[in-house]
Amino acid sequence: MKIEQKDIEYLKSIVGSENVFSDKAHKIAYSYDATRERYEPDLVVFPRNEEDVSKILKYCNERRIAIVPRGAGSGFTGGALPVSGGIVLALEKHMNKIIEIDLENMLAIVEPGVVNKQLQRAVEEKGLFYPPDPASEEYSTIGGNVSENAGGMRAAKYGLTKDFVVALRAVLPNGDIIRAGKKTIKDVAGYNVAGILIASEGTLGVITQITLKLLPKPKYVKSYMGVFKDVTSAMNAVFKSLASGANPVAMEFLDSLVVKAVKEKLNIELPSEAGAILVGDVDGNVLEEVAFQLETLQKSFKENGAIDFKVASDKNEREKLWKARRGASQSITIYGSKKLNEDISVPRSMLPIALEKIYEIGKKYDLVVPCFGHAGDGNIHVNVMVDGSNKKELEKGHKAIREIFELVVNLGGTLSGEHGIGLSKAEFMNIAFSEAELNLFKRIKEAFDPNGIMNPGKMGL
Ligand SMILES: Cc1cc2nc3c(=O)[nH]c(=O)nc-3n(C[C@H](O)[C@H](O)[C@H](O)COP(=O)(O)OP(=O)(O)OC[C@H]3O[C@@H](n4cnc5c(N)ncnc54)[C@H](O)[C@@H]3O)c2cc1C
Repeated sequence: MKIEQKDIEYLKSIVGSENVFSDKAHKIAYSYDATRERYEPDLVVFPRNEEDVSKILKYCNERRIAIVPRGAGSGFTGGALPVSGGIVLALEKHMNKIIEIDLENMLAIVEPGVVNKQLQRAVEEKGLFYPPDPASEEYSTIGGNVSENAGGMRAAKYGLTKDFVVALRAVLPNGDIIRAGKKTIKDVAGYNVAGILIASEGTLGVITQITLKLLPKPKYVKSYMGVFKDVTSAMNAVFKSLASGANPVAMEFLDSLVVKAVKEKLNIELPSEAGAILVGDVDGNVLEEVAFQLETLQKSFKENGAIDFKVASDKNEREKLWKARRGASQSITIYGSKKLNEDISVPRSMLPIALEKIYEIGKKYDLVVPCFGHAGDGNIHVNVMVDGSNKKELEKGHKAIREIFELVVNLGGTLSGEHGIGLSKAEFMNIAFSEAELNLFKRIKEAFDPNGIMNPGKMGL
């Protein structure tokens, strides 16, 4: 439904005129995410609290006005893009408070607009630890992290955002406020509604409060780097070292194309013979534990063809080891003006074959496909590089992506390990899911949002 002046007046009466904007500057500022695509909303609204969200949703549900919840807009798949216009409900401005850090129960209760790193810092000041650390941690919000089930560098050992969500509060499109979960560790009463809301990409309701599990902060962290002659050896080392008892915090991967790009673009020294690199951290509360982890990794890496294994001796060296990984995404632009950036995920034992076949697909289409990412989780960022101004090359790139998804699904993997489906991957859902499964998704959507006002056009729903 098109927004009319009376809608604007009503919304202003709920949140105040200082929190409702229809001017061009706001429309542009809230028209994009990390996909760099642009869709302008009709209105940008900043709710102040859960009650505002409830009133706004109830009204918009009656008027059939589309609502797109938004955190920091750092999503890679277009989740926060208002493709059908309507209202961008921006949660980062007012709903950004850490409500409580409960030391006795080791929990944090936060509003959705809290920035990930803000929470990490606040709990670390109290000797606690919130592990999920997406590379966007300095700006992405906890609400966005929950809605995409964000992963990060520490997921190999600690898991994803979902592994830390103890409870949620959310507003349904009809304005009802629901709780999903309690402060308890165990809760098997009723359906796992929090589990359905996690990774639902704003299509079911608006998450208004999140209770997160915290851990004690490990005392020692050390960084390592394994250098391999080729990708297959590195990928074998990933699953074999983990299966042999190594439990690193992170095990990140760079292929030779990424190594070359990082050296060129960021001037970072890396071994010239590196066909692939694994870099990561191990942690522990006693130094013996850290040493044991490093020994286990070194032994297994060597058995699987590592030509070098380094351990950073101090903070400076640690930062150097990590700089290459952190600079990977920006560096590979040397291969093309546009990267078709996917984040496929496969069972770890399938990594060697998956990478081998992905490079074959690249060759078939005559496209460069640098790969890097969270190998310890089986989650690889596959970047099909194209000239963004060349329509034919873009088409070729999209064909290659489709083949890569088919391959990954055949290997028992999935379309996305952490970036979600959003807009960008909606067309590929039928590769990964059967008709019965897609129908179930549609029925879940209808149960929460019968009028289809929540983030229309996303996840293929
Ligand atoms: C440089 C860079 C590095 C990145 N690295 C990683 C990484 O390592 N791991 C990773 O997982 N992701 C990564 N991302 C992707 C992105 O940062 C994550 O998906 C993040 O969780 C999005 O958070 P956000 O606050 O920006 O959400 P937004 O982009 O604003 O929204 C994402 C989705 O969540 C919905 N949403 C947001 N808040 C709510 C809410 N309160 N209730 C309901 N729905 C909501 C939106 O409608 C949208 O569908 C990266 C992105 C960039 C730009």
